[in-house]
Amino acid sequence: MSKLDYLIIGHGVVGAVLAHQLLDAGKSVMVVDSPKPNTSSEVAAGILNPVTGKRLTLTWKAHDFFPEAKRYYKWLEKRLDTTLYHSLPLHRVFKSLPDQNDWMAKQRDTRYAPFVEEGSVSELDEEHMINPFGTLKVNNGGRVNVKELIKYSREYLERINSFRVDEVSLADVEVDGSHITCNSIEANHIIFCTGLDQENWGFLPFTPMKGEVLQVESTYPRRDEIVIGGCFFCPTDDGLNYAGATYNWRDVNLEPTDEGKAEILDKLASFLRHPVRVKEHKVGIRPAVKDRRPLIGKHPEHERVYLCSGMGSKGVSMAPYLCKHLIEYIELGKPLMPEVDLKRYT
Ligand SMILES: Cc1cc2nc3c(=O)[nH]c(=O)nc-3n(C[C@H](O)[C@H](O)[C@H](O)COP(=O)(O)OP(=O)(O)OC[C@H]3O[C@@H](n4cnc5c(N)ncnc54)[C@H](O)[C@@H]3O)c2cc1C
Repeated sequence: MSKLDYLIIGHGVVGAVLAHQLLDAGKSVMVVDSPKPNTSSEVAAGILNPVTGKRLTLTWKAHDFFPEAKRYYKWLEKRLDTTLYHSLPLHRVFKSLPDQNDWMAKQRDTRYAPFVEEGSVSELDEEHMINPFGTLKVNNGGRVNVKELIKYSREYLERINSFRVDEVSLADVEVDGSHITCNSIEANHIIFCTGLDQENWGFLPFTPMKGEVLQVESTYPRRDEIVIGGCFFCPTDDGLNYAGATYNWRDVNLEPTDEGKAEILDKLASFLRHPVRVKEHKVGIRPAVKDRRPLIGKHPEHERVYLCSGMGSKGVSMAPYLCKHLIEYIELGKPLMPEVDLKRYT
């Protein structure tokens, strides 16, 4: 095989997004992935939510991440000839009057303007939803079908002979002045998009975060919105719904737990009047980081070896902007944002 521009290790959402951005820029690419059960991308609900948490905080860099995510996934849909991006309003249920009042104070903050229109507090149909204090409607978010993205991206890459199944370790990489060699593939650069990769990048402060999510059947009739009230309730393409997710950094194993399931079902029952039937219970470990910022950039010792990871619970919204950012760093020498540069830990 002749020398490639890029060797990408890992085909979760980050590796897939990066691969297609590089191909679109005319680069030659090989993606090597060793499929593992319970990877974060396999279980992700794929929700893009610009206003999150108890305090309705505007997501970090929402003005950059969300428009780019929408633009990019729409473009990728055309390339992969499938539907990936669903633009859906997110209805955030207020739990109390103080909760609603907190928002009333915040709504003058003009930074929220692209995501929350004036007069966005309303009540969802009481027949279906328990929301005595109303809900806040958040725009410019939605859901990406991550499972389809990975499946169709892999098929595309296989068709152009740019995909291989293999386990790659950093120890397999030989770095020369002008290129790298790894398992007999020669490339100008190698980028690890291996998610939570403590084996190869264990010197970085990954903080693994277990998440449990349910796929449930429900008679709730509306399939054109996501409702969030302590947990999310989100329609999926197969007529089911995602409900979740839990956050657990103490007990980080791949076992689904009764406690996790009960937590999600309790939260659902606090706002959804319809009964649900659990069809599937999934677990994944998010590639989170101590300071809740991604880990992007060059290996401290090896030239031409890069990492693009650490996107925690927001990989789907962050990946399009941050992969582009890494490409501009490598190709054009543009500086990385200090908040994401893994140099902050080396
Ligand atoms: C329950 C749950 C719900 C979530 N919901 C959302 C959500 O709604 N919205 C959102 O934005 N994010 C969500 N996330 C987070 C999101 O899933 C992650 O941010 C994102 O998937 C991380 O993608 P990644 O490509 O970095 O890593 P991964 O998904 O872990 O992919 C890494 C890939 O690299 C491969 N790999 C690893 N090591 C090697 C190796 N040595 N050699 C070869 N291949 C290797 C793995 O097999 C895998 O295919 C959720 C996560 C969980 C757990």
